[in-house]
Amino acid sequence: MANGGPVEHGYPHLETVRAAITALYKRLSYDTIHSFSASVAPADVAFCDTDDLHLGAQRVARELVRHYRLPDARMIVGFREMTHAANVELTAGPEYFVELNDRFRSHRRDIGAALAHEVMHVYLHRLDLSFPGTRDNEILTDTATTYLGAGWLLLDAFREDAASSQKLGYLTPEEFGYVLAKRALVFGEDPSVWFTSPQAYEAYTRGMAMARRDEQQPPLTAAGWAGRRRYARDRRHAQDHAPASHPETPYTFTPDGRGPLRVTFPCPTCHQRIRVPVKGRMRARCGLCRTVLECDT
Ligand SMILES: [Zn+2]
Ligand SMILES: [Zn+2]
Repeated sequence: MANGGPVEHGYPHLETVRAAITALYKRLSYDTIHSFSASVAPADVAFCDTDDLHLGAQRVARELVRHYRLPDARMIVGFREMTHAANVELTAGPEYFVELNDRFRSHRRDIGAALAHEVMHVYLHRLDLSFPGTRDNEILTDTATTYLGAGWLLLDAFREDAASSQKLGYLTPEEFGYVLAKRALVFGEDPSVWFTSPQAYEAYTRGMAMARRDEQQPPLTAAGWAGRRRYARDRRHAQDHAPASHPETPYTFTPDGRGPLRVTFPCPTCHQRIRVPVKGRMRARCGLCRTVLECDT
């Protein structure tokens, strides 16, 4: 887990974040994803500066192991001077050694956030789910942590004032907010009440607006007027000529030339690509996350 540096904002990793959500649904299945309908409760990972450091860290790690349902995994948490915020040794287990940066000795309330990320590394390691390259794999880890109910801790560790800022994890605050919002929309959850950091709350609000936008893209009927107009023009073009590909639109028409026209677009929940015939109003169901989609193709 990275540490320090200026806080990056916006959505620079959005494509990888979305690919991570799709990969999670593919690897875990709808049923397993839905067994994570409850998030880690604030009281279960609370840690104050008067708690015993080592006993407290072990307790929080146990709670995360329980949350992710890693039955026989045991986390041994230690502290040392290091450049990174935290690290875990990925072995066959059942014991895993987690190292936390010495600074957590005096920032105990963020230990839950750091452990949420490190224990997720163990979870994904046991699933044998990874993305190639450190950057993408860390984005997968943060996205999975958040989608499965422990990532609100990472976003809440983002704090800024006039003198300093701090953030944990590889996603930007807005990207954490986005994944958290996508989770909230699936499970009907309101994580905003758990935030202690006002900056985390703001990032969640922005992320929610972004997640809502995914649900308002054509050919979904919830698309706005401008989007629908653009879609109708692109469809006309695809019917008359070979379909042009617009990298800025989320949908594509196929095939070029002969045969009935079809449109492919990302599922607003899991981002798996869905293909349906172009034939007006219809209802489609995502085969991966089972979201029912009202479309006007
Ligand atoms: Zn990591
Ligand atoms: Zn889906």
